[in-house]
This record gives sequence, C-alpha cells and structure tokens, in this order.
Amino acid sequence: MSPLLLLGGTFSPVHLGHMRMAEIASESLGVSATFLINSIPPHKEAPSVTSADRLRMLGIALQDTGFSIDTRELRRSSPSYTSDTLREIRSERPHDPVIFIIGMDSFRTIGSWHEAEELPGLASFFVIRRPGTEEPAEEESFLALHAERAENAEELLEAPAGRYFISERECLPVSSTMIREALSRGEEPELIAPGVLQYIREKGLYRR
Ligand code: ATP
Repeated sequence: MSPLLLLGGTFSPVHLGHMRMAEIASESLGVSATFLINSIPPHKEAPSVTSADRLRMLGIALQDTGFSIDTRELRRSSPSYTSDTLREIRSERPHDPVIFIIGMDSFRTIGSWHEAEELPGLASFFVIRRPGTEEPAEEESFLALHAERAENAEELLEAPAGRYFISERECLPVSSTMIREALSRGEEPELIAPGVLQYIREKGLYRR
C-alpha cells in the first residue's frame, strides 16, 4: 500500500503556515506531501490573481522541498469540490490510505463542505492546530461524529479512509488573508517565502 498525503488549498498566496503543515504531517507519517491546488473554490471568492500565478508561487515555495503539486483541479473547467477530487483519486487507488491535511478551522467547518457525509468514506484527515482556533467539542465536530479518532498518526496509515488525527504540534500564526491585507496596505508581509514575495512584487499582485 502506498499512502497519499494531500494538502488542499487555494494558496493565494502560499505561505510558511502551509509549508509547516506539510512538514508536520510528513514528519509524523514518514510520507511526502502533495499540494492539491484548488481552481475556483466554491466556498470562497475567486482569487484576485490567476491560477497560473498561484501555481507559479507554489512552485517557487516548493523548490528543493521534495513536496509535489497535483494540478488536476486547475485542469477542470467547473468548480471543484473536495468530494469530487477525492472520489477520482479513490477510483485510481482503491486500497491506498488517502490522508487529507486540514487546519483546525477546516476541521470545525468540514461538516458544511459539499457532500460532507461522503468525505470520511473517501479519506482520513490529519488535523493541524491553528493559532487562534480552538478544538471544538466532540459533539460539535462532524469528523468526531462520522470518523474514528486515531490516537497516533501512524493509525492513519492502517486504513484507506475513515479516521482522523489531531496533531499536538501547532502551526504558524499566518493566513493568506493576512498576507493579502498587508500587501494591499503596502506593508511588508511576514511568514512568506522570500522567492514568493519577490514574484508578488515583480508581478504587482494583491495591490488594490
Ligand atoms: P485564506 O486566508 O485565503 O482563507 P488560508 O491561509 O486559510 O487562506 P488556504 O489555502 O485556504 O489558506 O488553506 C488550505 C488549508 O490550510 C486549510 O485546511 C486551512 O485550514 C489550512 N491552513 C492554512 N494556514 C494555516 C495555519 N497557519 N495553520 C493551520 N492550518 C492552516
């Protein structure tokens, strides 16, 4: 069995929090991460930059990391839902553990994702604590109600789907929103790779 570790996101732009998430999950599981870049995210406004720009920035950030990029959602013409993508991946690899990395904020809201009830049957979830976002009570958590909690990360590698693990390691206090807002105010954003910031400056992205 060959596990697949995915970090889905808009990456507009990719920041050091995303990198840290991938590192935490990869180190815990001994599996390299693949960044799954969203096309038109149904739950968010369209990004103010092109998909090609977001992909270029992701490529710059991942240089020399060993992490890879899956562009399948960008190649679709219609909005991509995580459930559609995971179903497609599942049909390609019926028995492999598929592990989707999410931040604590996504852990709290995943019950409202499109076809949420399908998700635990398609993947397991590696949850990363996010500064400022509390862990919800079990009875308020969709995954706690519909998936099996793993006490250690390795348990995610022992089943194709249906489990979740909450890492004790907390991520960095950064979001793409914070970075976009700093840039639009003309300030120097923090916790972003220098090469990505240079690309943003050269292309004049995220300026109001
Ligand atoms: P935005 O501010 O535009 O909403 P974001 O920084 O949350 O963007 P996304 O690309 O939307 O980044 O996030 C992809 C995934 O990464 C989500 O599951 C989100 O919860 C998680 N994530 C992003 N930043 C962090 C962070 N600093 N700590 C923990 N999880 C994070």
